[in-house]
Amino acid sequence: MPLHQGPQASPAAHERRLALNPFFGEANPVGGMTEAPPRHRLPDGPLPPMSAYQLVHDELMLDGNSRLNLATFVTTWMEPQAGVLMAECRDKNMIDKDEYPRTAELERRCVAMLAQLWNAPDPDSAVGCSTTGSSEACMLAGLALKRRWSKRNADRYPASARPNLVMGVNVQVCWEKFCEFWEVEARLVPMEGDRFHLDAESAAALCDENTIGVVAILGSTFDGSYEPVAEICAALDALQERTGLDIPVHVDGASGAMVAPFLDEDLVWDFRLPRVSSINTSGHKYGLVYPGVGWALWRSPAELPEELVFRVNYLGGDMPTFALNFSRPGAQVVAQYYTFLRLGREGYRTVQQTARDVARGLAERIEAMGDFRLITRGDQLPVFAFTTAPDVTSFDVFDVSRRLREQGWLVPAYTFPAHREDLSVLRVVCRNGFSADLADLFIEDLKRLLPELRRQPRPFTHDKDAATSFHH
Ligand SMILES: *Cc1c(COP(=O)(O)O)cnc(C)c1O
Repeated sequence: MPLHQGPQASPAAHERRLALNPFFGEANPVGGMTEAPPRHRLPDGPLPPMSAYQLVHDELMLDGNSRLNLATFVTTWMEPQAGVLMAECRDKNMIDKDEYPRTAELERRCVAMLAQLWNAPDPDSAVGCSTTGSSEACMLAGLALKRRWSKRNADRYPASARPNLVMGVNVQVCWEKFCEFWEVEARLVPMEGDRFHLDAESAAALCDENTIGVVAILGSTFDGSYEPVAEICAALDALQERTGLDIPVHVDGASGAMVAPFLDEDLVWDFRLPRVSSINTSGHKYGLVYPGVGWALWRSPAELPEELVFRVNYLGGDMPTFALNFSRPGAQVVAQYYTFLRLGREGYRTVQQTARDVARGLAERIEAMGDFRLITRGDQLPVFAFTTAPDVTSFDVFDVSRRLREQGWLVPAYTFPAHREDLSVLRVVCRNGFSADLADLFIEDLKRLLPELRRQPRPFTHDKDAATSFHH
């Protein structure tokens, strides 16, 4: 499908007008029938607000039920109080630091809290910012890596050297975007056998004098597993000893940077590792805020080249900002601060532990059915991937995904990347709000479907690409 190229339907459908229910008219029901607005052109005149509201509302009824969406990592439930705060702040523009100094202050406090949570050596001097999500945060972190490399290599760049970034083939699409947009070679380590993410040895082997950094993911969107950040750092320490190359690591903690600090306190993956120069997370994933808010932090000002930081007016002074956008909503940042305040460490731990318990329990029960083989068990991110057992020949993961959809459950099925294109999986993301009760209902639905799936003569999905739903 091309990018928003107007109506995709036939010319006749294009001309069809929206259908106004005669009851919608404020006073005169006939108005509703004569004022039907066009779909793809700006209407000539206005509609009463109730009619406009109802038209938009009715069309959106066919969007899925977000709580049954087990494909997304993004928050689909918040407390009513958070919703009220967000509504109170919907007119606030994050960039107007001068006009909304308290919103700016709450952003600053969130950065300080995250610096401490991620064990920055000196939390007060760590630098960071809010973004629209992890994608923007990764762009900013990648830009900082590239700029630091190009300053170190000013004699060779841009004349001859081409910068590269080393990462696993399982990276989220934002890293491919970063490399494409900013002309950096993506050096992707393929999957191998039962290794579905980056390993330390392969990462170090791909580094050379043009490597701007290594991206380690906590955790992988493909199967919810954590990449071995400490091992990757150790391999790069050894590389530096051997060759003198000093390669920084960025941790893409879109999900895991808000899980591991609460559930895996012994896992060393953050600024405690001197080689980790920056970390991002999605406030709208396990940060537990509605979309879109993300965070990017650098261990100290030395990791963030000054010239990338712009200044905006703040109470008559200068407020530094690092962002791709200019205007963006302040409500999400306020909601993040609310959630930090509301839950604290203990609250976050309980919420994430509940999600992990649901994921583990669900994975075990799916394994016990006998038709499936688990790829991961939900014990890192509260996320697990599974495939059909080797002796299952009558259906495949795409059939399961399609049939679950009939019950309202969105569970993506997709094929793994190089070199495991032979492996197709289903993935379940357990989030706050996907309760043990909902998990029971999910299992009941899956159990009800299985006899029919087993009776299929063969898998029904011919076009596997078409069947693959959105899974990042
Ligand atoms: C979701 C995700 C991203 C992109 O984050 P957005 O907040 O959706 O922009 C990047 N990396 C990883 C590992 C992710 O899970």
